[in-house]
Amino acid sequence: MITMNTKAFGTQSATAPLEKLNIQRREVLPEDVEIDILYCGVCHSDLHTARNEWGGTKYPNVPGHEIVGRVTKVGKNVTKFKVGDLAGVGCMVDSCRTCESCKEGLEQYCEQGNTGTYNGHDKHSGTHTFGGYSERIVVDEDFVLHIPDNLDLAATAPLLCAGITTYSPLRHWNVGAGMKVGIVGIGGLGHMAVKIAKAMGAHVVVITTSASKSEDAKRLGADEVILSKDEPQMKVNARTLDFILDCVSAQHDINAYLSLLKRDGQLTLVGAPENPLPVAPFSLIGKRRSFSGSLIGGIAETQEMLDFCGQHNITSDIELIDMQDINNAYERLLNGDVKYRFVIDIASLKNMVK
Ligand code: NAP
Ligand code: ZN
Ligand code: ZN
Repeated sequence: MITMNTKAFGTQSATAPLEKLNIQRREVLPEDVEIDILYCGVCHSDLHTARNEWGGTKYPNVPGHEIVGRVTKVGKNVTKFKVGDLAGVGCMVDSCRTCESCKEGLEQYCEQGNTGTYNGHDKHSGTHTFGGYSERIVVDEDFVLHIPDNLDLAATAPLLCAGITTYSPLRHWNVGAGMKVGIVGIGGLGHMAVKIAKAMGAHVVVITTSASKSEDAKRLGADEVILSKDEPQMKVNARTLDFILDCVSAQHDINAYLSLLKRDGQLTLVGAPENPLPVAPFSLIGKRRSFSGSLIGGIAETQEMLDFCGQHNITSDIELIDMQDINNAYERLLNGDVKYRFVIDIASLKNMVK
Protein backbone atom coordinates (compact mmCIF):
# COMPACT_ATOMS: atom_id res chain seq x y z
CA MET A 1 0.00 0.00 0.00
CA ILE A 2 1.38 3.41 -0.94
CA THR A 3 1.33 5.89 1.94
CA MET A 4 1.79 9.62 2.40
CA ASN A 5 3.68 11.35 5.18
CA THR A 6 1.10 13.50 6.97
CA LYS A 7 1.51 16.20 9.64
CA ALA A 8 -0.57 15.51 12.73
CA PHE A 9 -0.89 16.39 16.41
CA GLY A 10 -1.28 13.72 19.04
CA THR A 11 0.06 12.08 22.13
CA GLN A 12 2.36 9.16 22.91
CA SER A 13 0.83 8.32 26.31
CA ALA A 14 -2.09 9.01 28.64
CA THR A 15 -0.04 11.52 30.61
CA ALA A 16 2.00 13.23 27.89
CA PRO A 17 0.84 16.48 26.29
CA LEU A 18 -0.19 16.48 22.64
CA GLU A 19 2.60 17.42 20.25
CA LYS A 20 3.41 17.47 16.57
CA LEU A 21 4.06 14.09 15.00
CA ASN A 22 4.05 12.41 11.61
CA ILE A 23 1.61 9.74 10.56
CA GLN A 24 1.07 7.77 7.36
CA ARG A 25 -2.13 8.06 5.36
CA ARG A 26 -2.88 5.62 2.52
CA GLU A 27 -2.99 6.90 -1.04
CA VAL A 28 -6.58 6.86 -2.29
CA LEU A 29 -7.92 3.40 -3.12
CA PRO A 30 -10.66 3.13 -5.79
CA GLU A 31 -13.49 3.91 -3.31
CA ASP A 32 -11.63 6.61 -1.34
CA VAL A 33 -11.84 10.36 -1.02
CA GLU A 34 -8.83 12.41 0.10
CA ILE A 35 -9.77 15.48 2.14
CA ASP A 36 -7.60 18.49 2.87
CA ILE A 37 -8.72 19.22 6.45
CA LEU A 38 -9.60 22.86 7.16
CA TYR A 39 -11.21 22.67 10.60
CA CYS A 40 -11.57 20.04 13.31
CA GLY A 41 -13.77 20.36 16.41
CA VAL A 42 -12.56 19.34 19.88
CA CYS A 43 -14.92 16.81 21.46
CA HIS A 44 -14.70 15.75 25.10
CA SER A 45 -14.31 12.19 23.73
CA ASP A 46 -10.96 13.33 22.29
CA LEU A 47 -9.81 14.11 25.82
CA HIS A 48 -11.29 10.90 27.33
CA THR A 49 -9.41 8.91 24.65
CA ALA A 50 -6.09 10.81 24.67
CA ARG A 51 -5.91 10.31 28.44
CA ASN A 52 -7.13 6.68 28.24
CA GLU A 53 -10.05 7.39 30.57
CA TRP A 54 -12.17 4.67 28.93
CA GLY A 55 -9.22 2.24 28.64
CA GLY A 56 -8.01 0.72 25.36
CA THR A 57 -6.31 3.76 23.85
CA LYS A 58 -3.57 2.86 21.39
CA TYR A 59 -0.62 5.22 21.06
CA PRO A 60 0.35 7.37 19.37
CA ASN A 61 -3.18 8.73 19.56
CA VAL A 62 -4.29 11.41 17.12
CA PRO A 63 -7.79 12.57 18.17
CA GLY A 64 -10.37 14.53 16.19
CA HIS A 65 -13.72 13.40 14.72
CA GLU A 66 -15.44 16.64 13.77
CA ILE A 67 -13.72 17.14 10.44
CA VAL A 68 -14.53 19.49 7.58
CA GLY A 69 -12.41 20.19 4.53
CA ARG A 70 -12.19 20.07 0.78
CA VAL A 71 -11.81 17.05 -1.49
CA THR A 72 -8.38 16.99 -3.13
CA LYS A 73 -8.41 13.56 -4.77
CA VAL A 74 -10.93 10.80 -5.51
CA GLY A 75 -10.47 7.10 -6.31
CA LYS A 76 -11.55 5.81 -9.71
CA ASN A 77 -14.84 4.29 -8.47
CA VAL A 78 -15.96 7.32 -6.45
CA THR A 79 -19.32 8.71 -7.57
CA LYS A 80 -20.54 10.87 -4.67
CA PHE A 81 -17.70 13.42 -4.51
CA LYS A 82 -15.47 15.33 -6.87
CA VAL A 83 -12.31 17.36 -6.38
CA GLY A 84 -13.13 20.75 -4.85
CA ASP A 85 -16.27 19.63 -2.99
CA LEU A 86 -16.72 20.44 0.68
CA ALA A 87 -16.68 17.25 2.74
CA GLY A 88 -17.12 16.16 6.33
CA VAL A 89 -16.08 13.15 8.39
CA GLY A 90 -17.55 12.30 11.78
CA CYS A 91 -16.87 9.61 14.37
CA MET A 92 -16.58 6.56 12.11
CA VAL A 93 -14.82 5.76 8.86
CA ASP A 94 -16.01 2.20 8.20
CA SER A 95 -18.17 -0.71 9.39
CA CYS A 96 -18.88 -4.29 8.23
CA ARG A 97 -21.79 -3.11 6.02
CA THR A 98 -23.45 -6.54 6.09
CA CYS A 99 -24.87 -7.01 9.62
CA GLU A 100 -28.46 -6.15 10.60
CA SER A 101 -27.48 -2.77 12.03
CA CYS A 102 -25.41 -1.77 9.01
CA LYS A 103 -28.19 -2.85 6.64
CA GLU A 104 -30.60 -0.64 8.57
CA GLY A 105 -28.28 2.36 8.22
CA LEU A 106 -27.23 2.16 11.86
CA GLU A 107 -23.52 1.65 11.18
CA GLN A 108 -22.65 3.09 14.59
CA TYR A 109 -24.14 -0.07 16.14
CA CYS A 110 -22.36 -2.43 13.70
CA GLU A 111 -22.28 -5.93 15.22
CA GLN A 112 -18.57 -6.16 14.34
CA GLY A 113 -17.95 -2.73 15.87
CA ASN A 114 -17.73 0.37 13.70
CA THR A 115 -14.26 1.66 12.78
CA GLY A 116 -13.71 4.78 14.85
CA THR A 117 -12.16 7.74 13.05
CA TYR A 118 -9.41 7.50 15.65
CA ASN A 119 -8.32 4.57 17.82
CA GLY A 120 -10.28 2.20 15.54
CA HIS A 121 -8.84 -0.86 13.80
CA ASP A 122 -7.86 0.24 10.30
CA LYS A 123 -8.48 -2.73 8.02
CA HIS A 124 -6.29 -1.23 5.30
CA SER A 125 -3.14 -0.54 7.31
CA GLY A 126 -3.67 -3.23 9.98
CA THR A 127 -2.82 -0.66 12.67
CA HIS A 128 -5.12 1.88 14.33
CA THR A 129 -6.83 4.89 12.81
CA PHE A 130 -5.75 8.51 13.24
CA GLY A 131 -8.22 11.39 13.58
CA GLY A 132 -8.67 14.91 12.36
CA TYR A 133 -5.91 16.73 14.23
CA SER A 134 -4.00 16.31 10.97
CA GLU A 135 -3.57 18.00 7.61
CA ARG A 136 -5.45 15.42 5.53
CA ILE A 137 -7.49 12.23 5.78
CA VAL A 138 -8.40 9.46 3.35
CA VAL A 139 -11.84 7.88 3.86
CA ASP A 140 -14.13 5.53 1.93
CA GLU A 141 -16.73 7.72 0.20
CA ASP A 142 -19.58 5.90 1.95
CA PHE A 143 -18.45 7.45 5.23
CA VAL A 144 -17.97 10.99 3.91
CA LEU A 145 -20.70 13.63 4.30
CA HIS A 146 -21.79 16.54 2.14
CA ILE A 147 -21.61 19.92 3.90
CA PRO A 148 -24.33 22.51 3.26
CA ASP A 149 -22.72 25.50 1.54
CA ASN A 150 -24.71 28.21 3.37
CA LEU A 151 -23.12 27.59 6.78
CA ASP A 152 -19.91 28.97 8.28
CA LEU A 153 -17.43 26.15 7.74
CA ALA A 154 -15.55 26.28 11.05
CA ALA A 155 -18.82 26.43 13.01
CA THR A 156 -20.15 23.46 11.02
CA ALA A 157 -17.36 21.08 12.09
CA PRO A 158 -18.94 20.30 15.51
CA LEU A 159 -22.11 19.09 13.80
CA LEU A 160 -20.18 15.99 12.73
CA CYS A 161 -20.17 14.66 16.31
CA ALA A 162 -21.97 17.00 18.73
CA GLY A 163 -24.70 17.66 16.16
CA ILE A 164 -25.49 14.08 15.20
CA THR A 165 -25.06 12.69 18.72
CA THR A 166 -27.85 14.96 19.96
CA TYR A 167 -30.02 14.97 16.79
CA SER A 168 -30.26 11.16 16.66
CA PRO A 169 -31.84 10.52 20.11
CA LEU A 170 -34.06 13.62 19.79
CA ARG A 171 -35.41 12.16 16.54
CA HIS A 172 -35.58 8.60 17.86
CA TRP A 173 -37.74 9.67 20.81
CA ASN A 174 -39.92 11.88 18.59
CA VAL A 175 -39.09 15.16 20.24
CA GLY A 176 -41.24 17.96 18.85
CA ALA A 177 -44.07 20.38 19.48
CA GLY A 178 -46.00 19.79 22.68
CA MET A 179 -43.05 18.21 24.48
CA LYS A 180 -41.10 19.64 27.37
CA VAL A 181 -37.50 18.58 26.87
CA GLY A 182 -34.63 18.97 29.33
CA ILE A 183 -31.01 19.23 28.20
CA VAL A 184 -28.44 18.53 30.91
CA GLY A 185 -24.86 19.83 30.56
CA ILE A 186 -24.43 22.79 28.24
CA GLY A 187 -21.09 21.99 26.66
CA GLY A 188 -20.40 21.07 23.04
CA LEU A 189 -23.14 18.44 22.84
CA GLY A 190 -25.62 20.18 25.14
CA HIS A 191 -25.64 23.53 23.34
CA MET A 192 -26.26 21.76 20.02
CA ALA A 193 -29.09 19.78 21.64
CA VAL A 194 -30.72 23.03 22.77
CA LYS A 195 -30.61 24.48 19.25
CA ILE A 196 -31.80 21.29 17.56
CA ALA A 197 -34.60 20.50 20.04
CA LYS A 198 -35.84 24.08 19.67
CA ALA A 199 -35.80 23.79 15.87
CA MET A 200 -37.79 20.55 16.20
CA GLY A 201 -40.49 22.56 17.99
CA ALA A 202 -40.01 21.42 21.60
CA HIS A 203 -40.25 23.54 24.75
CA VAL A 204 -36.61 23.45 25.87
CA VAL A 205 -35.42 23.49 29.46
CA VAL A 206 -31.70 23.87 30.10
CA ILE A 207 -30.38 22.15 33.23
CA THR A 208 -26.93 23.42 34.09
CA THR A 209 -24.43 23.55 36.95
CA SER A 210 -23.10 26.90 35.65
CA ALA A 211 -24.89 30.06 36.69
CA SER A 212 -22.91 31.88 33.98
CA LYS A 213 -24.67 29.83 31.29
CA SER A 214 -28.22 30.68 32.45
CA GLU A 215 -28.38 33.96 30.55
CA ASP A 216 -26.81 32.49 27.47
CA ALA A 217 -29.18 29.52 27.49
CA LYS A 218 -32.05 31.76 26.39
CA ARG A 219 -29.96 33.11 23.54
CA LEU A 220 -29.26 29.53 22.44
CA GLY A 221 -33.01 28.90 22.35
CA ALA A 222 -33.95 27.68 25.83
CA ASP A 223 -37.41 28.56 27.16
CA GLU A 224 -36.44 27.90 30.78
CA VAL A 225 -33.32 27.28 32.83
CA ILE A 226 -32.86 25.17 35.95
CA LEU A 227 -29.71 25.57 38.03
CA SER A 228 -29.13 21.98 39.12
CA LYS A 229 -27.13 22.92 42.22
CA ASP A 230 -30.11 24.86 43.54
CA GLU A 231 -32.24 22.29 45.39
CA PRO A 232 -35.42 24.38 45.63
CA GLN A 233 -35.30 24.92 41.84
CA MET A 234 -34.92 21.18 41.28
CA LYS A 235 -37.82 20.46 43.66
CA VAL A 236 -40.16 22.93 42.01
CA ASN A 237 -39.45 21.35 38.65
CA ALA A 238 -39.86 17.72 39.76
CA ARG A 239 -42.06 15.62 37.42
CA THR A 240 -42.35 18.33 34.75
CA LEU A 241 -40.36 16.99 31.77
CA ASP A 242 -41.29 14.47 29.07
CA PHE A 243 -37.77 13.76 27.91
CA ILE A 244 -34.23 14.53 29.09
CA LEU A 245 -30.99 14.32 27.12
CA ASP A 246 -28.02 13.98 29.47
CA CYS A 247 -24.83 15.38 27.89
CA VAL A 248 -22.60 15.41 30.99
CA SER A 249 -18.95 14.35 30.69
CA ALA A 250 -18.20 13.81 34.41
CA GLN A 251 -19.63 11.90 37.40
CA HIS A 252 -23.08 13.15 38.43
CA ASP A 253 -26.13 11.96 40.34
CA ILE A 254 -28.45 10.61 37.68
CA ASN A 255 -31.29 10.23 40.22
CA ALA A 256 -31.51 13.98 40.71
CA TYR A 257 -32.22 14.38 36.98
CA LEU A 258 -34.59 11.40 36.77
CA SER A 259 -36.75 13.11 39.41
CA LEU A 260 -37.49 15.87 36.86
CA LEU A 261 -39.28 13.39 34.57
CA LYS A 262 -43.06 13.04 34.46
CA ARG A 263 -44.65 9.60 34.69
CA ASP A 264 -43.49 7.52 31.67
CA GLY A 265 -40.71 10.01 30.96
CA GLN A 266 -37.47 9.03 29.25
CA LEU A 267 -33.89 10.02 30.11
CA THR A 268 -31.34 9.26 27.40
CA LEU A 269 -27.67 9.36 28.21
CA VAL A 270 -25.17 10.49 25.60
CA GLY A 271 -22.54 11.75 28.05
CA ALA A 272 -19.93 9.08 28.76
CA PRO A 273 -18.20 9.56 32.12
CA GLU A 274 -15.58 6.92 32.83
CA ASN A 275 -17.30 5.32 35.87
CA PRO A 276 -20.76 3.74 36.39
CA LEU A 277 -23.67 6.01 37.33
CA PRO A 278 -25.72 4.33 40.11
CA VAL A 279 -29.47 4.40 39.53
CA ALA A 280 -31.79 4.14 42.55
CA PRO A 281 -34.54 1.64 41.61
CA PHE A 282 -37.31 3.95 42.82
CA SER A 283 -36.09 6.74 40.54
CA LEU A 284 -37.47 4.55 37.74
CA ILE A 285 -40.11 2.32 39.33
CA GLY A 286 -42.06 5.05 41.08
CA LYS A 287 -43.12 6.77 37.87
CA ARG A 288 -42.55 4.06 35.22
CA ARG A 289 -39.62 6.07 33.90
CA SER A 290 -37.07 4.80 31.36
CA PHE A 291 -33.31 5.28 31.24
CA SER A 292 -31.55 4.70 27.90
CA GLY A 293 -28.44 5.56 25.92
CA SER A 294 -27.52 6.55 22.40
CA LEU A 295 -24.33 6.46 20.31
CA ILE A 296 -23.67 9.10 17.61
CA GLY A 297 -25.86 8.37 14.52
CA GLY A 298 -25.73 6.48 11.23
CA ILE A 299 -24.33 7.96 8.01
CA ALA A 300 -27.72 8.59 6.37
CA GLU A 301 -29.00 10.24 9.54
CA THR A 302 -25.84 12.35 9.80
CA GLN A 303 -26.52 13.66 6.30
CA GLU A 304 -30.15 14.29 7.28
CA MET A 305 -28.94 16.26 10.33
CA LEU A 306 -26.52 18.34 8.22
CA ASP A 307 -29.30 19.16 5.76
CA PHE A 308 -31.65 20.00 8.67
CA CYS A 309 -29.01 22.36 10.12
CA GLY A 310 -28.51 23.91 6.68
CA GLN A 311 -32.26 24.57 6.40
CA HIS A 312 -32.55 25.96 9.94
CA ASN A 313 -29.23 27.85 9.85
CA ILE A 314 -27.91 25.95 12.83
CA THR A 315 -24.19 25.87 13.60
CA SER A 316 -22.11 25.60 16.73
CA ASP A 317 -20.99 28.54 18.88
CA ILE A 318 -17.25 28.16 18.61
CA GLU A 319 -13.93 29.46 19.82
CA LEU A 320 -11.38 29.02 17.04
CA ILE A 321 -7.97 27.93 18.31
CA ASP A 322 -4.56 27.14 16.87
CA MET A 323 -3.27 23.58 17.01
CA GLN A 324 -0.60 24.56 19.55
CA ASP A 325 -3.35 25.68 21.98
CA ILE A 326 -4.85 22.21 22.27
CA ASN A 327 -3.36 21.20 25.64
CA ASN A 328 -4.67 24.38 27.23
CA ALA A 329 -8.04 23.83 25.54
CA TYR A 330 -8.28 20.38 27.16
CA GLU A 331 -7.75 21.93 30.61
CA ARG A 332 -10.41 24.54 29.89
CA LEU A 333 -12.78 21.79 28.72
CA LEU A 334 -12.31 20.04 32.06
CA ASN A 335 -13.22 23.28 33.83
CA GLY A 336 -16.36 23.79 31.74
CA ASP A 337 -14.70 26.93 30.37
CA VAL A 338 -15.78 26.89 26.73
CA LYS A 339 -18.68 28.54 24.91
CA TYR A 340 -19.36 26.10 23.49
CA ARG A 341 -16.95 24.23 21.26
CA PHE A 342 -13.26 24.65 20.50
CA VAL A 343 -12.50 24.25 16.81
CA ILE A 344 -8.94 23.92 15.55
CA ASP A 345 -7.89 25.98 12.55
CA ILE A 346 -5.83 23.29 10.79
CA ALA A 347 -3.90 25.98 8.86
CA SER A 348 -1.97 26.47 12.11
CA LEU A 349 -0.77 22.84 11.90
CA LYS A 350 0.06 23.06 8.20
CA ASN A 351 2.17 26.19 8.88
CA MET A 352 4.21 24.56 11.65
CA VAL A 353 7.85 24.31 10.66
CA LYS A 354 8.85 21.77 13.29
P1 NAP B 1 -18.14 19.28 27.22
O1 NAP B 1 -18.16 20.29 26.15
O2 NAP B 1 -16.99 19.21 28.14
O3 NAP B 1 -19.52 19.47 28.07
C1 NAP B 1 -19.83 18.73 29.20
C2 NAP B 1 -20.76 19.55 30.10
O4 NAP B 1 -21.15 18.72 31.19
C3 NAP B 1 -20.12 20.76 30.75
O5 NAP B 1 -20.09 21.88 29.95
C4 NAP B 1 -21.01 20.97 31.97
O6 NAP B 1 -22.19 21.69 31.59
C5 NAP B 1 -21.47 19.55 32.31
N1 NAP B 1 -20.75 19.02 33.46
C6 NAP B 1 -19.40 18.86 33.60
N2 NAP B 1 -19.11 18.32 34.79
C7 NAP B 1 -20.30 18.13 35.42
C8 NAP B 1 -20.69 17.59 36.69
N3 NAP B 1 -19.76 17.13 37.53
N4 NAP B 1 -22.01 17.52 36.99
C9 NAP B 1 -22.95 17.96 36.13
N5 NAP B 1 -22.64 18.50 34.93
C10 NAP B 1 -21.34 18.59 34.58
O7 NAP B 1 -18.27 17.81 26.63
P2 NAP B 1 -18.94 17.31 25.23
O8 NAP B 1 -17.91 17.31 24.18
O9 NAP B 1 -20.22 17.99 25.04
O10 NAP B 1 -19.19 15.77 25.59
C11 NAP B 1 -20.06 15.40 26.65
C12 NAP B 1 -19.96 13.92 26.91
O11 NAP B 1 -20.56 13.21 25.83
C13 NAP B 1 -18.53 13.38 27.02
O12 NAP B 1 -18.48 12.40 28.02
C14 NAP B 1 -18.30 12.75 25.65
O13 NAP B 1 -17.33 11.74 25.67
C15 NAP B 1 -19.68 12.19 25.38
N6 NAP B 1 -19.97 11.91 23.97
C16 NAP B 1 -20.78 10.87 23.71
C17 NAP B 1 -21.14 10.59 22.41
C18 NAP B 1 -22.11 9.49 22.11
O14 NAP B 1 -22.14 9.02 20.98
N7 NAP B 1 -22.90 9.07 23.07
C19 NAP B 1 -20.64 11.38 21.38
C20 NAP B 1 -19.82 12.47 21.68
C21 NAP B 1 -19.48 12.73 22.99
P3 NAP B 1 -22.86 22.80 32.58
O15 NAP B 1 -21.80 23.83 32.76
O16 NAP B 1 -24.03 23.28 31.80
O17 NAP B 1 -23.27 22.10 33.84
ZN1 ZN C 1 -17.30 13.34 19.72
ZN1 ZN D 1 -22.09 -4.09 10.56
